[in-house]
Amino acid sequence: MDIKDIQKMQKEFDLEYFPKFWELSSVQDFMDSLKHVAIGLAGEVGEFSNLVKKLDRRIMNLGGGIEEEYMDRLRDEVTDIFIYVLIAANLLEMNLDDAFLKKLKYNRERFQEFRDND
Ligand SMILES: [Mg+2]
Repeated sequence: MDIKDIQKMQKEFDLEYFPKFWELSSVQDFMDSLKHVAIGLAGEVGEFSNLVKKLDRRIMNLGGGIEEEYMDRLRDEVTDIFIYVLIAANLLEMNLDDAFLKKLKYNRERFQEFRDND
């Protein structure tokens, strides 16, 4: 399964459970859906960041390691972020495969000096 398939599965899910999101008959409809995605994504990034903050505070004050349960919670938030990224990509009619490969190429050139200095 590649990202294209995953994007398609997410769109099918959204069409089934949240059809109003995909009723895009005006610019305002599109903007409403885009705002929904932006707020959802920011919320999930916030949840992830809050977990990191709490983990950092606990380790700073009490020491110790990171329990597997905490790692699972972090992974769960990363999954939520990924889902919103898929929804955003679908809304913007972008292919994440192509976008990722293009950006990776750009970043290889951009960060070449760091690689050369190792
Ligand atoms: Mg979450």
